[in-house]
Amino acid sequence: MSRKPFIAGNWKMNMTAKSGAELIAALAPLVKDANCDVALCVPAILIPEMTKAAAGTNIAIGAENVHWAKNGAYTGEISAEMLKEYGVKYAIIGHSERRQYFGETDEGVNKRTLAALENGITPIVCVGETLSERENGTTEEVIARQLEKGLQGVEDIKKVVIAYEPVWAIGTGKTATDGQAQETIAFIRKKIGELFCPMCAQKVIIQYGGSMNAGNCKGLMAQPDIDGGLIGGASLKLDFATIVNYDK
Ligand code: PEP
Repeated sequence: MSRKPFIAGNWKMNMTAKSGAELIAALAPLVKDANCDVALCVPAILIPEMTKAAAGTNIAIGAENVHWAKNGAYTGEISAEMLKEYGVKYAIIGHSERRQYFGETDEGVNKRTLAALENGITPIVCVGETLSERENGTTEEVIARQLEKGLQGVEDIKKVVIAYEPVWAIGTGKTATDGQAQETIAFIRKKIGELFCPMCAQKVIIQYGGSMNAGNCKGLMAQPDIDGGLIGGASLKLDFATIVNYDK
């Protein structure tokens, strides 16, 4: 079953309008012949400028989060409708930093995911275990719970991208081995098959995220169930283009 690979960057709370636009201008010619879908998820305040910077390129602009409500008294939050106005195609949801530092829960992830889908925005739903969960053997249990609760009520699972991001590998320089990433992503695909349907599971894009870089991307991308990457640190530099061109 062929799935089009998808490489997305997550700028987190980095870059300014000026440095972001400069990076996009430098990346655009380097990624223009990519065989995968390419996106950069950027801080909300940069979305209008980055959308302009990426116009006419194959780089789509995504958001780093989205709120579930249409509008209302949610100070500091951004709705799917607001993102849509700027042509935002993707929104990261349930990133471990949101779960860890901002108290986001599986229930919230679920509401955000449904709101993104209702507005035609592709959610990139992040799941992954902490180091202690991996060490005490509960990786699959934790991820199964995140998938069951986070994806409840999704009608067309093919419209969702899943990012498997072991928390211990994010921003630490410690990457999961190719085998560890493949094993857990194969588990995620199996679980999606059980929760939705086996055929749909074969069509769902599942990325790996966690210190993926220009040096380790080829090995990770060679794994049969890994369909792409969610890239933090390496998306802030030209290395992102090397990852996008992992197959060249
Ligand atoms: C991320 O934040 O999603 C991520 C994978 O970060 P890094 O690549 O820096 O580990």
